[in-house]
Amino acid sequence: MHQEPRFSAKNSTKTSAKRTVSQRRNSVRNTKLRYTRNVNQWNSRKTGTMSGIAVALVIMILVSMLLLIVQNVSFEKKNIFSEDIPFENPNDDLYGPDLTPAQRDAYLTQYVTVTADDVHRGPTILVNTEYPYVFPEEQLLSSVFLSKTDSYKAQNGSLYLHPETITALNDMADAFYAKTQNPSLMVSGAYRTYEQQQEHYDTNLKRRGEKYTTSFVQIPGASEHHTGYGFDLATYDTRESLDALIYPFSPVGEYYWVTQNCAQYGFVLRYPPNKDSKTGLSYKTWHYRYVGVAHALVMEFADLVLEEYVDFIREYTYDGKRYYINAANGDAYVLYFVPYNGEETQKIPIPRRCLSYTVSGNNIDGFIVAGYLGEDHEEE
Ligand SMILES: [Zn+2]
Repeated sequence: MHQEPRFSAKNSTKTSAKRTVSQRRNSVRNTKLRYTRNVNQWNSRKTGTMSGIAVALVIMILVSMLLLIVQNVSFEKKNIFSEDIPFENPNDDLYGPDLTPAQRDAYLTQYVTVTADDVHRGPTILVNTEYPYVFPEEQLLSSVFLSKTDSYKAQNGSLYLHPETITALNDMADAFYAKTQNPSLMVSGAYRTYEQQQEHYDTNLKRRGEKYTTSFVQIPGASEHHTGYGFDLATYDTRESLDALIYPFSPVGEYYWVTQNCAQYGFVLRYPPNKDSKTGLSYKTWHYRYVGVAHALVMEFADLVLEEYVDFIREYTYDGKRYYINAANGDAYVLYFVPYNGEETQKIPIPRRCLSYTVSGNNIDGFIVAGYLGEDHEEE
């Protein structure tokens, strides 16, 4: 079980609020003492009836001051936080005027710093002909052959993907193997440089012609194979023929499980049927893309391809409406978009009560955040 961090935050809020009120009470007490001292001075003079009137006046002033103090204290009490007040709601009516916006923000929000380059990094970047990949100086990649589990195959030793992609692929392939005892799943295509994609494109043009190539192969720069998050699946079938054959992955028979369950592991079928007009490519049964579990679940739930998803999530912001999704296993996530501020660095707000989070660029104009809220979390 995860521990909810918001409870400690809640306690610190209340402690701080109490401290503020008791500080004010102390200053009120000091004022009272000062006036008492004045009364004593007046009394010690005792110069006839005038002093009697003056004493009466001072007593009246004191009484009215006391009344004011009582009023002040009761006013302050109204704003002391109670157990019933929901901590999450950043609303003046609930928090009371005792907290400055900066204090309230500190209780609710933590910040992670990103750079301008990060707009073009991360598992939710949209890469297509309109938004080509921005190649970094160094790219984080791991060997599929050396990092994979025994539940699937790598077609050769020179396949590389982002380590996050391989970790998720290991989990999905392990689950597929546990379900089917079928070891035929294979990664047949992975990371490609600009030059390698050019070569791949030219080879297809020569062997399969222009119609096939423009329908199924992305031009260099626009390919997801540059990112380390996009890859091709195949099946290495040893059961139908003595000569083992490699087929492009197709969701038939038990392989349908992959299409049905990939979102739970953070994958989407990147070029699904009937989305040609959005993606620019025809239905590719074999090309999968890692985007992260929360994003894959939303894309599956709302039937969105990445082109549509980056527009969809732009409507949800940290300060505005946020998007909540509950996975079938009870895991809950909050998702929102943070527009790029145009500066060299930028602070991305993350709700403190998130147990973990991911921040990814969208390769266009900002960052998409997914925060993990734990199991069976109620929407605010
Ligand atoms: Zn591909």
